Amino acid sequence: MTWDPIRKTGGQAVTPNLIDYTEECRAFSWTTAQRSFFHGSPDSRGSNMAYEAVDRHIEGLRSDHVALRCIGRDGQVTELTYRDLHDASNRFANVLGALGVGKGDRVFTLLGRLPELYVTVLGTLKNLSVLSPLFSAFGPEPICERLRLGEGRVLVTTPELYMRKVAGIRQSLPELKYVLVTGKGPAPGGTLLLSERMAEAGGRFEIPPTDPEDMALLHFTSGTTGRPKGAIHVHDAVVAHHTTAKYALDLRPSDVFWCTADPGWVTGMSYGVIAPLTFGLTLVVDAGEFDARRWYRTLQDQQVTVWYTSPTALRMLMRRGDALPREYDLSRLRYIASVGEPLNPEVTVWGLRALGQPVHDNWWQTETGAIMISNYAAMDIKPGSMGRPLPGVEAALLERGADGRARVVDGYAREIVAPGVEGELALRPGWPSMFRGYLGQPERYAKAFAGGWYLSGDIARKDEDGYFWFVARADDVIKSAGHLIGPFEVESVLMEHPAVAEAGVIGKPDPVAGELVKAFVTLNAGYEPSETLRLELVAFARRRLGAVAPKEIAFDQNLPHTRSGKVMRRLLKARELGMPEGDTSTLEHPDG
Ligand code: ATP
Ligand code: MG
Repeated sequence: MTWDPIRKTGGQAVTPNLIDYTEECRAFSWTTAQRSFFHGSPDSRGSNMAYEAVDRHIEGLRSDHVALRCIGRDGQVTELTYRDLHDASNRFANVLGALGVGKGDRVFTLLGRLPELYVTVLGTLKNLSVLSPLFSAFGPEPICERLRLGEGRVLVTTPELYMRKVAGIRQSLPELKYVLVTGKGPAPGGTLLLSERMAEAGGRFEIPPTDPEDMALLHFTSGTTGRPKGAIHVHDAVVAHHTTAKYALDLRPSDVFWCTADPGWVTGMSYGVIAPLTFGLTLVVDAGEFDARRWYRTLQDQQVTVWYTSPTALRMLMRRGDALPREYDLSRLRYIASVGEPLNPEVTVWGLRALGQPVHDNWWQTETGAIMISNYAAMDIKPGSMGRPLPGVEAALLERGADGRARVVDGYAREIVAPGVEGELALRPGWPSMFRGYLGQPERYAKAFAGGWYLSGDIARKDEDGYFWFVARADDVIKSAGHLIGPFEVESVLMEHPAVAEAGVIGKPDPVAGELVKAFVTLNAGYEPSETLRLELVAFARRRLGAVAPKEIAFDQNLPHTRSGKVMRRLLKARELGMPEGDTSTLEHPDG
């Protein structure tokens, strides 16, 4: 099935075309963006991420504007203005100073979406220490591994998380000098009470001169394909956070913005903390777990205007049907975007039908630090496409060698120009939020660049209008009887069947075909697994996909996901083949 583009001009209820894409792309340069962005900063503090996110607004007219609206698990709402956030982050910077924690020292967070998280992030950045966020759902082992790799000096957490997950590993972390805990106390042995330290600290803090290249954030990747890597980001990244949020998320100072990503991974930081605050807007933070009704209620009650979420969440909402969102007033919602894994065309179109707005897919990685390719606010959306490179981003597809990755000969890689041909997605280095290294793994970092490109490890194709279409991660491509098959295409077709809510597709070794395509599908409410349904799905896929259709289909109501919401195909495969599961530290509900 081919999907009609969703037009930005004409009758459909979508964001009006405010920015001229072609013109912006032509006129754009990062140097100018940097200059205009840091314009008005009285001195080099202006290069500091936290200065740009908070302090700048204190000098402007937005001190009393609500910066954070935190909805607790119990529904209780706590508001912090820009002034509150400014003062509290100053205090936290002073707390670090008093402990002798300084420039370059690593501060880790293991917190849910509590107000303390935002204060810690901003205070750490002001102090020129390095912030590394952990998923609060991590178990002791992944926590220990990351703290050790990242040489964590300070950890900010809750007393409960400390007792459950950290107390037992503390002995093996000699570098971890201080653990600060939230709450009213008493603090567990070996920890300090954050509120006490904050009360003792002064509310004034002078941000030291910040070099744009000073290290700011350490982000571990999602670990979808293997062992997580620690990507290093610098203060200059804020220029890209702001610019890309303007283009890809259409953010404006008047917005109420909700980013559902966990602050434990890069989306939850770049667009869940930094970028939105640079606009001086109101950021909604919901500490509750996913629940369709709760999420619709948050959109309605908080009058969210721009919403950034994930394909998995959208698929789960879609699974609950079209009638549910009609019970809520979503009229303030003017823009929806999604990231993290391929967005099935079905979902984009469902957004327009059921929520009144289409879903804008965008593509980026922990390594890129910010959105690179996007269904830009001003562009027509092609459902199923990731969109086009943002201004300042040069993306290309490179010809591949026998190993499936870009072929670089004598430092030269060939770009694919013909539309529709698959290649490795590559980016021209030089954008401000590009990672500056994998911590402790210089060879691995060096290997990510070749022939003048950063190699993403993803396979894509481009159409005649310059839209990029995701095919697969290079490691996920299935080779079956001479065909190269991207699991995503097969998954999307399966999802067009009314019974299918989500699918995960893998290649299974086969003596004749090399690999055969096997699909695991989650069914929508109202459907039961049965042999008849299985045969119907096989036939349905065969009609659509021909030779590349799955030969085997199994029902699985519990597809494995990473904590950032991606289907973990490598785990499906390991389970299928009875192989060791490898690193599952980022797996959601490991017991489920
Ligand atoms: P690891 O590198 O440890 O295996 P990861 O690649 O999942 O983990 P992230 O940096 O969180 O870690 O994810 C980036 C990857 O997610 C991209 O390389 C791509 O494979 C996938 N991805 C992100 N956005 C999209 C999108 N819009 N469409 C398709 N795939 C996407
Ligand atoms: Mg990756």
